[in-house]
Amino acid sequence: MRQFDGHRLVLATHNNGKLREFAALLALYVKDMVSAGDLRLPEPEETGNTFADNAILKARAAAKLSGSPALADDSGLCVTALNNQPGIYSARWGGPAKDFQMAMKRVHDELDGALDRSAHFICVLALAWPNGDAETFEGRVDGHIVWPPRGDKGHGYDPVFVPLGHDRTFGEMEPGEKHAISHRGIAVRRLIARLRGS
Ligand code: IMP
Repeated sequence: MRQFDGHRLVLATHNNGKLREFAALLALYVKDMVSAGDLRLPEPEETGNTFADNAILKARAAAKLSGSPALADDSGLCVTALNNQPGIYSARWGGPAKDFQMAMKRVHDELDGALDRSAHFICVLALAWPNGDAETFEGRVDGHIVWPPRGDKGHGYDPVFVPLGHDRTFGEMEPGEKHAISHRGIAVRRLIARLRGS
C-alpha cells in the first residue's frame, strides 16, 4: 500500500467543523490539510450501501479531482431493535434542516417501548490516492439508547446514547472524554498508526 508523504491531504467534506476537528487530530502527521469545500470540488452523492462504500466513494472522488491523497469519513448510529437503522441514513433522518431533535424522537418513537435498547456508533475513515487505491479504518462503540435526551456538549444523536460501562450520555461528556472511547476516536487512532507506518 502507498505511503503518505505527510504533505497535502484533502479532507473530503464541505463541513468546516469536520475540517477543524480533523486538522487538530492529525496536526502532527499532516502539514497541509485542505477541504474539498475549500477546493470547490463537487460533493458526490452517497450511493453506497455501507459506511465503508460511502467513505471510499467520497475519498476517491476528492483524490481524483484534486490530484492529492484524500481522507473521508462516514458514520452513524445503528439501533439493534430497528434492524441497525438509521445506520448510513443517520444524517438523512435529520432532514434538510439537520434537525436531530426530530431524528432522536424518531428513534424513540420507532423503538416503541422495545426492551432491547442496545445500539452502536460506527465510523469508517477512507484514505484514497489519485490512482484509486484506497484503504479503510473502522471504529465502533457499543452502548444503549436513553430517553429523554441528556446533555448539550455533543452533536447529532449524542444526547440519547450512553456508552457501555458509563452512565452519562455522549452529550454530557467533554470532547476529550468522548473521543477516548468513541467510534471516531478509535478510527482516527487506527489511521494515525498507519500514517506513522506502524
Ligand atoms: P455523515 O457526515 O454522512 O457521516 O453523517 C453522520 C451522521 O451520523 C451525523 O450527521 C450524525 O447524525 C450521526 N453521528 C455520527 N457520529 C456521531 C456522533 O459521534 N455523535 C452523534 N451523532 C453521530
